[in-house]
Amino acid sequence: MGAKIKPIRLVVQALSFASISGLLSAALSKAIAPIPVPLPILANPGGPSTLPGALEAIEALLSRAKAPLAAMAMVFIIGALAGRAFCGWVCPFGFIQDLLRLISRTRRRMAPMDHSFLSKLKYLILLASLFISASLALSYGFAWGESYRSALGPLASGPFSSISPAGIKPPELRQIASSASEGRLGEWAMGLSRATLAGLALLAIAVYGGLKVPRFWCRYLCPTGALMGLFGRVSFLGIGRRPARCDRCASCEAACPMQVPILSLPWQRFNHQDCIACLECSDACPHGAIGPKFS
Ligand code: SF4
Ligand code: SF4
Repeated sequence: MGAKIKPIRLVVQALSFASISGLLSAALSKAIAPIPVPLPILANPGGPSTLPGALEAIEALLSRAKAPLAAMAMVFIIGALAGRAFCGWVCPFGFIQDLLRLISRTRRRMAPMDHSFLSKLKYLILLASLFISASLALSYGFAWGESYRSALGPLASGPFSSISPAGIKPPELRQIASSASEGRLGEWAMGLSRATLAGLALLAIAVYGGLKVPRFWCRYLCPTGALMGLFGRVSFLGIGRRPARCDRCASCEAACPMQVPILSLPWQRFNHQDCIACLECSDACPHGAIGPKFS
């Protein structure tokens, strides 16, 4: 049995979280994340993040009728090499979901039908946000472009970014806590924009869901995860199982936070759209039969 991956991953995630959320000094952040390019993670510069997520950058540029070349290049290159590995190792919101799982110690598995239905929601959110952004970019070529933009209101600057739970700033969270303790939560909420309320509602769903089901937000609702999952099936990094060692005890499936049906997938190698390359399956296997496979 080799060394466990999980403690190493938690350290990488913590460093990434501290760097991207600006908790580290500027110099240290620069040493860890030297190039401020959009990454395929949930990160909203309107919130506490120091760099934009790739989807947020794509939306912002399309809303100004500009081609999001750098963000799309990052999505293609990282997706082709590592699929959703940034979800498992780099994304600050993914790290928060993992911390919620550590706190609640939840291992709940969803019924397969519910899991399959809910898994499609993130693709709908991705499709809707890209459709609105792309149609807005195209509309500038027509006389009704400006009226379309004003009809979209706050969604015009980025349909998902404007309601993203990653856009909620720490002072807003402190306000919630103090308003709730003073019994003025309703009064305080009345003064918020609908976009901020939607972001807070999504954050509440992500936190509550994450306490009940591992990586609830990442499995079912995150459009960035959906975007990178499209590459998950063809990425260079995959997972393989050695049949000579595997006795199909299903410890790997029980440990998988994304509920990937490992034992139903080809043993030689699989690329699954929900696999975040966290390697918890590898840690859990008592026979050392499963691990990363490159090709
Ligand atoms: S699915 Fe979304 S929130 Fe989860 S780790 Fe990936 S980018 Fe981050
Ligand atoms: S299959 Fe393994 S590496 Fe992929 S998400 Fe599940 S536990 Fe993580």
